[in-house]
Amino acid sequence: MASGWANDDAVQEQIDSSIEDAVARARSQLPKGESLRHCEECDAVIPEARRQAIPGVRLCVNCQAEHDRENAAYSGYNRRGSKDSQLR
Ligand SMILES: [Zn+2]
Repeated sequence: MASGWANDDAVQEQIDSSIEDAVARARSQLPKGESLRHCEECDAVIPEARRQAIPGVRLCVNCQAEHDRENAAYSGYNRRGSKDSQLR
């Protein structure tokens, strides 16, 4: 162990926990189960390439884009909310 770096352990713990957080987040966002052959929402055929690229895919490109927009709007709403609470 090199001396003069008393914070080594704390820094390493911080790095470890942020990696664990990132992994946990990534895992929780992974779709589960088998890829669908047809979109869950509009019943469009999901191309084989898309099904292989995204394991557990459930939506066609159009519906996924729609969902992504909704998610983006939702997280924007959350950011505004937390900003408001900071001002109080
Ligand atoms: Zn669809």
